[in-house]
Amino acid sequence: MSSQNSDLKSLAGIPLAARSASRFSGRLLDLVFPTRCAGCGTLGDIWCAACRSQVQPIPQPVCLRCGKPVQQPGRCPACREASFHVSAIRAAAVYREPVSQAIHEFKYNGRKDLGQPLGELLAGYWRGRTVSVDLVVAVPLHQARLKERGFNQSQLLAETLCRVAGLPLLQPEVLRRERATQQQIHLGPEERRQNVSGAFEWAGPPLTGVSVLLIDDVATTGATLEACGEALHAAGATRVWALTVARALGE
Ligand SMILES: [Zn+2]
Ligand SMILES: [Zn+2]
Repeated sequence: MSSQNSDLKSLAGIPLAARSASRFSGRLLDLVFPTRCAGCGTLGDIWCAACRSQVQPIPQPVCLRCGKPVQQPGRCPACREASFHVSAIRAAAVYREPVSQAIHEFKYNGRKDLGQPLGELLAGYWRGRTVSVDLVVAVPLHQARLKERGFNQSQLLAETLCRVAGLPLLQPEVLRRERATQQQIHLGPEERRQNVSGAFEWAGPPLTGVSVLLIDDVATTGATLEACGEALHAAGATRVWALTVARALGE
């Protein structure tokens, strides 16, 4: 990444020190609104040890590209036939309870605090991996969705991963979701691809020679990751990897 080094350093860097200031008021809040586990509702923990112990990793072996379970090691038929912007997608867990429930609470019930344990799942997966990355980028939300939710769940996940694993995180708003897209939940694979294609734009310095790790909460078909990968490649990135908390296995 040579000449881009200083530019990228100015892009990475998040104000971690600012966070400790909120700890005291957090303790006061605990007395008034005690913390409940996002999985089983038990008092005292944001996501209790019993719930965490039920997290299921993706069954091996997986397709080297898309990360879905396959019978034989290698690439699945769909990944053999095409070329992709994202070299490999991996997930820390299968998208089913208790992870699906925790992600739902995190995104739709304002449980911002779940960014920590869910981000730790990413860090746990990343530990021991041999891939090296120059920059970590969270899948952005469109401005309208960000305003409505108040936070970008993927950015919080990436912050935890980078803090725990010591990776360089991109500040928000450099990869942008320029076009508001439909919720993907009821769309088929091809509709998903068309829905997000061209929706992202890189607004930072060139990424020539840089390898990027993309972070998102859930991967289903990988269409959103692929659309981000397209924008990162257009900016010059040499390689794009993706890591999500969970992977939907079409159950
Ligand atoms: Zn629990
Ligand atoms: Zn595949």
